[in-house]
Amino acid sequence: MIETATQNSESLSEILGMMKSMGHEQIVFCQDERSGLRAIIAVHNTILGPSLGGTRMWSYKSEAEAIKDVLRLSRGMTYKSAISGLNLGGGKAVIIGDARKDKSEALFRRFGKFVDSLGGKYITAEDVGISPRDISYVAMETDHVAGLPIAQGGSGDPSPVTAQGVYMGMKGAAKFAYGSDSLAGKKVAVQGVGHVGAYLVEKLVKEGAKVTITDIHEDSIQALTSKFSLDVVKPENIYDVDMDIYAPCALGATVNDETIHKLKCSIIAGAANNQLAQEEVHGKILLEKGIVYAPDFLVNAGGIINCYAEVAGFDSDWSMDETEKIYLTTQEILKKSRDENIPTYLAANRMAEARIEAVRNLAAGF
Ligand code: NAD
Repeated sequence: MIETATQNSESLSEILGMMKSMGHEQIVFCQDERSGLRAIIAVHNTILGPSLGGTRMWSYKSEAEAIKDVLRLSRGMTYKSAISGLNLGGGKAVIIGDARKDKSEALFRRFGKFVDSLGGKYITAEDVGISPRDISYVAMETDHVAGLPIAQGGSGDPSPVTAQGVYMGMKGAAKFAYGSDSLAGKKVAVQGVGHVGAYLVEKLVKEGAKVTITDIHEDSIQALTSKFSLDVVKPENIYDVDMDIYAPCALGATVNDETIHKLKCSIIAGAANNQLAQEEVHGKILLEKGIVYAPDFLVNAGGIINCYAEVAGFDSDWSMDETEKIYLTTQEILKKSRDENIPTYLAANRMAEARIEAVRNLAAGF
């Protein structure tokens, strides 16, 4: 294992500075010449339990970009698990490389050895660019893996559970904004109908919502329009749709300087991570505009709840029951935001931090 500051990127003091300002515990740089592995594992916080978060494989433009990504993502996992009441900390890993060209059994098994060297402080899973097959190679070298296929004793595809959480969060936000959690007749625009979006659309249609969808892939759209009556718009037109609820289920940062004044919705609730391009800026504008934003890391926590069930040995009923609680937690956060006149993301962050602090005090005997 080599721990080093990389050329053309951040200096060691800059990296330590970022770790300090974001509150990270540990960062591990992994390098293996033969397999071509270059990876970074970031352990943000382990107060509530072992850090859990997926591994992302991406062609980062620079090492600096990879470091920033892994630090930001691992911190996000701490908040997601904390607010969901899980006994998990936050961690994440990135493998620097092209997911279409640079994969091999050796690379993932070598990565698995690095994960194993942390002795359970970090548990990995799938993220962007990583398939069940890749993760099963990792699992050959370490037990500290979650999100394996059901056939391999894992909890399988988390998307249906994630979609259920988004649906419950949306209903919680509706209860807060409209006084009723019924989505019947509500106009919902779903951006991205991949794994999570497609399950979400099905639930919305069943409840009688008027759903508009968009996706960059025609086959994903057709898979839904062949079953349900839906309006379809081009990806660039989704922000102009007449809607009550905007459900971003594709990419992050879609609530940004360009889109925020176009959106005519009263609620934002979707699966995508990091929906606000800049939390402080766009969270505040949403508050001022009276748009109810159900924080992404709360409503999309079904996936991590599913992984936690696998690690803790709980069954899928437990995952669904826990995920349903997102309905009440969403309302609690929205009320806190209203009472304290603070953006909803901040109310959610504070709730997560309060739980971590309470458990830290418990461990210290206070
Ligand atoms: P996915 O890749 O299966 O689906 C994303 C869909 O968005 C794809 O169909 C893609 O074609 C579409 N898309 C991409 N760019 C688009 C654009 N500009 N406009 C419209 N559509 C676009 O991913 P997923 O598993 O469904 O996850 C969706 C989002 O939720 C991601 O941001 C993911 O990080 C987040 N998330 C997923 C889970 C999970 O359990 N899968 C859990 C937590 C968070």
